[in-house]
Amino acid sequence: MTIQEQIISLRDELREHNYNYYILDNPTISDYEFDMKLKALQSLETAHPEYYDPNSPTLRVGGEITKNFETVVHQHRMYSLDNSYSKEDLLDWEKRIEKIVDGEVEFVCELKYDGASISLTYENGNLVRAVTRGDGTQGDDVTANIKTIKTVPLKLKGNYPDKFDIRGEIVLPFDGFNKMNEERLQAGEEPYRNPRNTASGSLKLQDSSEVAKRPLECLLYNLKGNKLGVSTQFEGLHKAREMGFKVPEAARLATSVEEVVEFVNYWDVHRHDLPYETDGVVIKVNNLQQQEELGYTAKAPRWAMAYKFKAEQVSTRLNEITYQVGRTGAITPVANLEPVELAGTTVKRASLHNADQIEKLDIREGDLVYVEKGGEIIPKIIGVDFSQRPSNSKVTNYIIHCPECGTELIRQEGDAKHYCPNYNGCNPQIIGRIQHYISRKAMDIEGLGGETVALLVNEGLISNYSDLYRLTKEQVLPLERMAEKSAENLISGIDASKTIPFERVLFAIGIRYVGETVAKKLAKHYKTLDALMRATFDDLIAVDEIGDRIAESVLEFFNSEDNRRIIHDLRQFGIQMELSEDLLANQTDKLNGSAIVVSGVFESVSRTELKKLIEDNGGKVSSSISSKTTYVVAGANMGPSKRTKAETLAIPILTEQEFLDLLK
Ligand code: AMP
Ligand code: ZN
Repeated sequence: MTIQEQIISLRDELREHNYNYYILDNPTISDYEFDMKLKALQSLETAHPEYYDPNSPTLRVGGEITKNFETVVHQHRMYSLDNSYSKEDLLDWEKRIEKIVDGEVEFVCELKYDGASISLTYENGNLVRAVTRGDGTQGDDVTANIKTIKTVPLKLKGNYPDKFDIRGEIVLPFDGFNKMNEERLQAGEEPYRNPRNTASGSLKLQDSSEVAKRPLECLLYNLKGNKLGVSTQFEGLHKAREMGFKVPEAARLATSVEEVVEFVNYWDVHRHDLPYETDGVVIKVNNLQQQEELGYTAKAPRWAMAYKFKAEQVSTRLNEITYQVGRTGAITPVANLEPVELAGTTVKRASLHNADQIEKLDIREGDLVYVEKGGEIIPKIIGVDFSQRPSNSKVTNYIIHCPECGTELIRQEGDAKHYCPNYNGCNPQIIGRIQHYISRKAMDIEGLGGETVALLVNEGLISNYSDLYRLTKEQVLPLERMAEKSAENLISGIDASKTIPFERVLFAIGIRYVGETVAKKLAKHYKTLDALMRATFDDLIAVDEIGDRIAESVLEFFNSEDNRRIIHDLRQFGIQMELSEDLLANQTDKLNGSAIVVSGVFESVSRTELKKLIEDNGGKVSSSISSKTTYVVAGANMGPSKRTKAETLAIPILTEQEFLDLLK
């Protein structure tokens, strides 16, 4: 076999294993064997970049960064669906259909997956583009991200039309969602609220390798195109399955509204056994010819109808209202309920949001309350059964003191929440802040987890993040679950954080409203912490993208004597308080106003470094070539389609060396 043949054969083989694993759920080799084959392919590809294939199974891990998602007009508009809520609604719909089409009407019933809709375009069996629904007429090109989702075939199997679109839904199954949240909690971050929003948020992440880490799935339900070789929706589903797409098996044919209702009733109960969220059923006229005759209203197809499941509701006793204090000091009231079955899980707690909500619904301890589970993971209380209210019931008085530290709560105007202002003396706030400090995107302290932080604080060993640097091995060894090795790792992990660059330190110290991006902005602008601490309100708001709210919060943070003392300590311990020299040395305005596309593989710098160079020198990195592109920096193996596009638009193409010379 030639090298090229070896590469192609490995790709085919891996693709088949991917299919067996992710679509059929029936792997035929071990994960280990799979990894070995993948590694073999990776090294062949690295050694022979001339056989580059954008759809190679090795590229599932992502790595491509998209700064601005390109807007793409949908060739076939992505419509919304009309909703129905009862059998009568469905019978009315059937009547409207019968007025327009002749002959028998058959329906396909499918589940309505609750995620983010996506349109995939395939040409000659290759995935060429993935676009979000957007406003239905145009969406965002999220191809780089979608390619990392294992259930999206990059190359098709069997017979396929030359060119077609396929519509589907990107969902995040419960298992994966829960796992992601566990990790977030460990890192001291707020958990995601529900799978749907997390799925659609994932599609717009800039770093595709982050998307690759998320356990997303793509469920397909509709083929769009000219020569599809099918005459009904049901055949279309089959065809899609044959081409290698993941098409859930639940779909059924129905010859009457009665049968549709049976399907709805069945899934209204059994949907809780599914691994992902569904919010209803979609009923479609099966015959594509009839679909065409029916056409579309301004908003939705006349040939399809959604039937929404009712949000599930139960009533149960509210035993007690308790209050939680978050990392920022925000108070959340929690309803502790008599355990009750709801939507397939046992519910013991529900969110009560804030004081206004409790007052508005007049919720009291001892009440029989209605609990509903909508898209959110945490159920909510939507009302009280007043007829069942005990005679000795008392109006709920919202707490006025912090349940953790006893400090009087404050409530700022326009804010729905109460806060505990005891910033440096309230345990959940202290713990939360340190957990944030050590988290991956902040100081990334290895060997120290969220639970250990809580332990350290509760044992009185630390009371702010600068105390971490005072810890000794002897102090932590007696802690629960600590051994010689883990204690050493903890101390060396803390020590290693002294090299974390200034912009991340600025994010880590937890100034309210100063997230990752703002921290970077401020670090770049002020270059040293001293300079930032000297800045006035007017100085701050003069910085690009810094508004009143952030400026005030920065001032407030550094006004606090406690914070200044902690910062002073961090400085003594050797934490980075200014942008590093080489970073500063490399910053210029040379590329101001230019939009640069990077393509291919580079020799003297990595792709990430190259992109950073562009940004440090005032340029913008864009993901795709357009008439607005200033030039393209091309490495080895620049994609042929990019090259053609650059040439057609007469965009200059620079080599790696030419670009680096430009910056000298
Ligand atoms: P809506 O957003 O409520 O108007 O509903 C329309 C959306 O339902 C579509 O954009 C799809 O994303 C989604 N959907 C989920 N499952 C299906 C399905 N089986 N058939 C058609 N659309 C579906
Ligand atoms: Zn408190």
